[in-house]
Amino acid sequence: MPASSHELFARAQQRMPGGVNSPVRAFRSVGGEPFFAARASGPWLWDVEGRRYVDYVGSWGPMIVGHAHPEVLRAVRETMEHGLSFGVPNPLEVEMAETLCAMVPGLEMVRMVNSGTEATLSAIRLARGATGRTRIVKFEGCYHGHGDSFLVKAGSGALTLGVPDSPGVPRALADLTSTLPYNDFEAAERLFEEAGDEVAALIVEPIVGNANCILPAEGYLQHLRTLCDRHGALLIFDEVMTGFRVAPGGAQERYGVRADLCTFGKIIGGGMPVGAYGGRAELMRQVAPSGPVYQAGTLSGNPVAMAAGLATLRLIREPGFHPRLEAATGRLCDGLEQAAREHGVTFSTSRTCGMFGLYFRARPATSFREATDIDHDAFRRFFHAMLERGVYLAPSAFEAGFVSAAHGEEEIAFTVEAARQAFALLARS
Ligand SMILES: *Cc1c(COP(=O)(O)O)cnc(C)c1O
Repeated sequence: MPASSHELFARAQQRMPGGVNSPVRAFRSVGGEPFFAARASGPWLWDVEGRRYVDYVGSWGPMIVGHAHPEVLRAVRETMEHGLSFGVPNPLEVEMAETLCAMVPGLEMVRMVNSGTEATLSAIRLARGATGRTRIVKFEGCYHGHGDSFLVKAGSGALTLGVPDSPGVPRALADLTSTLPYNDFEAAERLFEEAGDEVAALIVEPIVGNANCILPAEGYLQHLRTLCDRHGALLIFDEVMTGFRVAPGGAQERYGVRADLCTFGKIIGGGMPVGAYGGRAELMRQVAPSGPVYQAGTLSGNPVAMAAGLATLRLIREPGFHPRLEAATGRLCDGLEQAAREHGVTFSTSRTCGMFGLYFRARPATSFREATDIDHDAFRRFFHAMLERGVYLAPSAFEAGFVSAAHGEEEIAFTVEAARQAFALLARS
């Protein structure tokens, strides 16, 4: 008998903080214990006990073409036969840089790193180096990885666990980060009027996916662009989640707003640990060795990771990929809302291409305050009712859900039927 999830979690808790290597996985906000994955294929995830779940987490974003896609696996297999890491440049890095620049509007040069966290840390170092300024502006509930400067009113696991301002971050550094309420036009204007000339960069998730899923108000991203231009600050779009998902060229393409620097991760690694940052050539040329802003990485541009990412990016460039993904996301969300209505449960969804938010409130949130003003208990019960019925949703009300290209009619119908039963349970108690 292989070990059960419960046995594994007991062992894990002895030797790993909270039994996990990344906090949200521990199920703290929904209660209970996480399941341990044995394998995954397409839209499905199997636990070590052989139970199967339709997966709406998708490894938190990378698995946009579904798990274990044969073409991604083939690319990885073929590449690894030639060696796992070289420490000298390899051709796949060039292909990756060219591919990213061809897909993302305004992207002229990129640097590959190993995680989204590294990408955002490096991007703000570059912004500070390029502007000679120190202040960073971020938004409440936005998550940009676990770098010191970002753990101020942070989203995702930091929010889920109630530690948005982490101990261990020196006060002197945290003081250099200002926060704003997302979608509030005037608050941004006021902050820039008061301190705009100190601001090196404003960093934003163009669609907030780490405090549930909040879409930008009409004109909001353009408003941020205008403020940054007026005050000589750089605009950074953190597209680690939205990149290549909400459109082939990410949120910049979808909303027609250009950032000065962008950060990427998740999808561009196809499930391998990868991140990247990039922007206009004039800015990127300030990065070492062509410029003085230092940043490096032993495994950066790893050939196997590049191969997985490139195979994934090839698949999402097939004609009709994003329209199909957006339609599937819409069908799922419409189905869930319909199922809730049938049972008189107050519930709504927000959605964009391949990404959605679930809200136990009458309307999806347009602000961080609204996103946190939800019925947590209803979410918790819904999460577990769905899990028992073979649907794995993000184990926190503060995370976006993800639909992949492998989620077909059948899996969506299965999910909506599970939701019907889950809402019925909620309505009864
Ligand atoms: C996931 C995420 C990150 C952090 O990426 P890691 O690879 O987990 O370090 C940064 N920004 C956003 C928007 C993310 O969703």
